[in-house]
Parts: sequence; C-alpha cells; structure tokens
Amino acid sequence: MKVFLKTFGCKVNAAETDSIAALLMQKGWEIADLPEQADVLLVNSCTVTASGDRRMMQAVRKLRKSAPDAVLLLTGCYVQAFPQEAAAIPEADIITGTKNRLQIPALLEGYFQNPHRISAVEQFVSGEDFESLPQGSDAGHTRAFLKIQDGCNRFCSYCIIPYARGRCRSRHPEEIRHEAERLVRQGYREIVLCGINLACYAYDGYDIADAVRITAESGISQVRLGSLEPDGLTTEVLKKLSAIPELCPHFHISVQSGCDRTLKAMHRHYTCAEYAELIARIRELFPACAVTTDIMTGFPAESEEDFAQTMEFVKEIKFSEIHIFRYSPRSGTPAAKSPEQIPEKIKKARADKLSELAGALREEYLQSCIGGVHRVLFERQKSPEWHNGHAENYAVVRVPAHSGENFRNQIFDVRITGVQDGGLTGEIIDKS
Ligand code: SF4
Repeated sequence: MKVFLKTFGCKVNAAETDSIAALLMQKGWEIADLPEQADVLLVNSCTVTASGDRRMMQAVRKLRKSAPDAVLLLTGCYVQAFPQEAAAIPEADIITGTKNRLQIPALLEGYFQNPHRISAVEQFVSGEDFESLPQGSDAGHTRAFLKIQDGCNRFCSYCIIPYARGRCRSRHPEEIRHEAERLVRQGYREIVLCGINLACYAYDGYDIADAVRITAESGISQVRLGSLEPDGLTTEVLKKLSAIPELCPHFHISVQSGCDRTLKAMHRHYTCAEYAELIARIRELFPACAVTTDIMTGFPAESEEDFAQTMEFVKEIKFSEIHIFRYSPRSGTPAAKSPEQIPEKIKKARADKLSELAGALREEYLQSCIGGVHRVLFERQKSPEWHNGHAENYAVVRVPAHSGENFRNQIFDVRITGVQDGGLTGEIIDKS
C-alpha cells in the first residue's frame, strides 16, 4: 500500500507527519511521490490562520481530483480545533485530530476492511501524557526535527493552538536520548528540537537546557532550537544553554508586538522592557547569535501610535529576521470577538512597512557577518555553480562549487566574503 503525505504548518506538524510515515512504513507501507500513485492521501492540517484553512481545503479538493479512488485521511490542528467543520468536508473519508496518532494505521486497516466514513477526534483531558511517536527518518534531509514538547497553557487571546493541542506535556528525557542516538546512526548532522511551546519543556525537573544537553550527548554535530516563546527562558536556563557548544546560536523568540498596550490585549505574559532584557541577556551569553521573531500587524484596536511603537521597538532590538503575520480572527478566541477589528487594507499597509524595515535590518545583520568564520552544514546542491547550506546562525551560505565535489551533509568552516540574494557567500577554510 502507498501513502501520499501533505503537511501544512510548523516544524511540529512536519515532525509528526514524518512519524506517521514511520508508523506506516513499519507496517510495510511505502511513501508515494505523487497522489495519483497513492492508496491513501494523508493531509496533516494547520489552523493558525483562516487563510491556512482555505489553503488546506483547496489542497484537499485538488488531491481528491487527482486521486478519486484513494482514501483521504485528514488529521491535524484544524480537525482537532474544528471537528464539526472537518466532519463536513465531503472529500475526507477519515478525520482524526492531534491526539492518538498511533492509531492511524489501525484506522486505515479498519477502513479497508469496512469502507465507511470514520471520525476519530478525541478531546484533550488534563494531565495527558506526551504521545511518543517513532521519529521519522526522511533520508533526503540533513537535519532532523525531534518533537519533545506538545500543548500550551498560555491562551494568548488571538491563538487557537491551545484548543488544537491541549495542555503542556513533555517527552521523557531518556526517550529524547534514544531518538537522538538513532538519528545520529542514520547519519543526520543536526537535530532541531521542536514543540508547541518548546521553552516550557519540563519533565521531572529537566528543563529545555537539559533536553538540549541530552540531545548533544548523542554525538550529533549540532542542535538547533525551534520556535520559542519568551517565558521559560530564565537566566539559569540561558546559562546552561551557553555551556553546550553543539547548540546553534540562533534564537527565534516570538514577540508579536512592540507595544505594551497591544501585548496586554494579546494576553502575552511579558512587557517590551522584559523582552528586551531577555534579548540583552542572550546576546551577552551568545555574542554572535541571530535573534529572529514573529510579529503580527493589525491586532484589534492597534492604533497608528501602537504600531509606531512596534516599529521603534524593532529598530531597538535589531532582529536579524522577522516573520510578519497579519492578524487573522480565529473563531473561538477572545480577540476574534473584539468590536475593534482593523481593516485588511491597514493590516497590509503596516505589514508592508514592517517588512521594509525587517529587510533593512536583515541586510545590516548579513553585512555584519562579512569577514567572520561560520560553521556551515551543507545541504543538497541546488545549482552546479554553488554548494549551499545553513550557518549556525541559520543564514543561508553559498560557496563556489567545483566539479566532482559533494558537500551534502558535511560541515565546514567558511570565511564569509559577501552578501548575495538575502544570503551569504564565502570560502571554505577548514573541515569542521
Ligand atoms: S504561547 Fe504560542 S502557542 Fe501558546 S497560546 Fe500563545 S501564541 Fe499560542
């Protein structure tokens, strides 16, 4: 039997699709490259934004058209957050949420024995354990995603995720060690630890810094942290992290706004001053680090003055990259009920203005890398002229290629010589 995989959303969803694939491959399934070749179409959905839902629906309709006889299993955050709406999707034969992924092979078996629409969406109850799924192994990649945390207890006023992912729960440290060692044996050079609220990793006194240390002890060349929320990054945790040489000095810490009034309305649990202090502490411990973030424009009641504060805050922090989102009302969240919704035109205008500033700061950061030496993990070669990879600060790096060389999955020290097309160029000085 063949399954075609389609994933939307974050690194956690990507890691889970890999794991579901591993579950099915353990039972003799194969991965189809094209939907037309598949017996099953598996769609792992995201629901962070309304536009994300629309894209998922379009993909489901398109997949159904390309494989009319295949079984379509729809899983993920959209299904967990909106089970009734998901059950009404005519193209889906099986729907299941973000719980009990381990049951997916059995659900498919049950369907093939007795074809009928299956809805297997269970609500979260408090005190749930972390569902340990086998770590997927996509041999084509150089870095592996290792999911170690799930759920969130924060309930930011715009966010649907706590309804789709349940409460915070963490993976057993020994399981992290076991999975990391397995990924090293499979030849991976980098492990990206990911979670829904990763910085809140906590298991029997182990915190996120312990999880990074345990992963590094597996023999992996480098460990990277997925997206982080500010809370949980205490001074003690940061000091422990700074003692782990394998940790890549790249911190993606979501700020969402640079205005205290807006942060309060978002139910974010920090002020701009506290966030700036956190970044200052990180830069003290990791001088050459990259700090990237997420910012939302057009949150309900965000005034021109509030947005101007966000622009000033961004200039003050000097992020090396910013992921910009326009506020998207999610039904069921407090912010969606606010009467002070901002017109799309204004959301877009603010996002464009912020994007211009973010571009200038990115260029400034990349220019500051020239002359420096960075450790680069090389990936699949995309052009005959260049070897390309990512540096430890997650900047894209290209070095000239010579025929017959294959640098894929190798780590070299590269002296940066220039900035080009939003990335860095350089020359290899040594094998790392
Ligand atoms: S901390 Fe992140 S995942 Fe949790 S509610 Fe807030 S935005 Fe959503």
